[in-house]
Amino acid sequence: MKVGSNRSVSLPVLKDAPPGFHLLSKPSGSTCNINCTYCFFLSKEALYPNEKSRMMNETLETYIRQLLESHKVPQVTIAWQGGEPTLMRLDFFRLAVEIANKYKKPGQEILHTFQTNGILLDDEWCEFFKEHNFLVGLSVDGPREIHDAYRQDRAAKGTFDRVMQGWELLRRHEVDFNIL
Ligand code: SF4
Repeated sequence: MKVGSNRSVSLPVLKDAPPGFHLLSKPSGSTCNINCTYCFFLSKEALYPNEKSRMMNETLETYIRQLLESHKVPQVTIAWQGGEPTLMRLDFFRLAVEIANKYKKPGQEILHTFQTNGILLDDEWCEFFKEHNFLVGLSVDGPREIHDAYRQDRAAKGTFDRVMQGWELLRRHEVDFNIL
């Protein structure tokens, strides 16, 4: 089974799952738009040579349906991470919310969470997060000199200013967010 590839997959039935649990989903695999010096994950692309790792819509629906079905406690977290999940584009997450609402059991409460490097955030992303009460984690390593020493783009340029723009947008749209 390969979740996150372009192939259609069948996911294991989580019949033996505990009543409540937390899964992190990485819909763009290890793909990222930056190149942090300490990243342990980018190199995982080599495990799937010649494949573009993107979760298909069919897999998305199966994943969320099974996640909601498997929970025996009312609170369910749908957590997105990467690589960089914004590379999946906003429509993918609009669909994720739609699917979650479709399969939500009576009495279930869903918390959507999203960990991002913040580079691609714009008004549209932040409006979406606000509308659906996402909890967003923004990756920041500290003040500029520390952040830029490690969190660099593919041209080895620091990303501090771009991440601060994302921070400002999250704040302006009153999105619930924290800093990792
Ligand atoms: S943001 Fe940095 S640490 Fe995270 S996946 Fe991208 S390169 Fe790796």
